[in-house]
Amino acid sequence: MIDLTERLARIREQIESACRTSGRPLDSVKLMAVTKAHPAEAAIAGYRAGLRLFGENRIQEFTAKKPLLSELSGARWHFIGHLQTNKAERAMELFDGIDVVDSLRLAELLNSLAEEKDRVLSVLLEVNVGGETQKPGFVPISRDFEALLRAAERLDHLEIRGLMIVPPYRPIAESGRPFFRMLRELRDDIARRGLPRVSMDELSMGMSHDFAIAVQEGSTCVRIGTAIFGERPKPVREFTA
Ligand SMILES: *Cc1c(COP(=O)(O)O)cnc(C)c1O
Repeated sequence: MIDLTERLARIREQIESACRTSGRPLDSVKLMAVTKAHPAEAAIAGYRAGLRLFGENRIQEFTAKKPLLSELSGARWHFIGHLQTNKAERAMELFDGIDVVDSLRLAELLNSLAEEKDRVLSVLLEVNVGGETQKPGFVPISRDFEALLRAAERLDHLEIRGLMIVPPYRPIAESGRPFFRMLRELRDDIARRGLPRVSMDELSMGMSHDFAIAVQEGSTCVRIGTAIFGERPKPVREFTA
């Protein structure tokens, strides 16, 4: 078995090589380790290997894990799953950032919760550039998206830092490129408008199978699970159903 340190070194090499290909600074991409469905020990091993930014996608799962991770000082945890409004408060308590704001309603709710707690919450807007139905995320140039961008000015307990995307899954990494490019162009368009309280520094895109392509297209944060920790254990319910 190849160990974690070695896998991480390979991933970092691929990120750097993609940075070189596209003329970007080698340190312009953050690596988020996606620990969902893996036990707390996986995150601890990752932390020991130098990882500091982690992604999780289930409130219940992370509620159970978090007490086991209290010694990982300096680690930051972001929520990257679909967030139901009735779990927003819990998510805010558990996480340092919410990377998947996909409706004005959720943004408003998070803003008022953050205000109550007197903090500023860092968020990314999830965009559905594939225009897939039944998938969360703002459709670019839609009324909802425009409404949110305009509302940002008054959502003063949110820091809208950028965009996030999970493109339609295709086994061939290269097929993600048009979606990554669209997201980058969308980010540039929004940034040019200079909207109040909207910074577009972050482009969260690229997963285990396509992160190199995403970096070539401008990703500033790749979210990687399988390539670091191996295949996710199957959820228990799949065996009991
Ligand atoms: C699971 C997940 C990832 C990581 O996927 P891998 O293919 O295991 O790297 C990244 N982003 C999101 C939103 C996820 O849910």
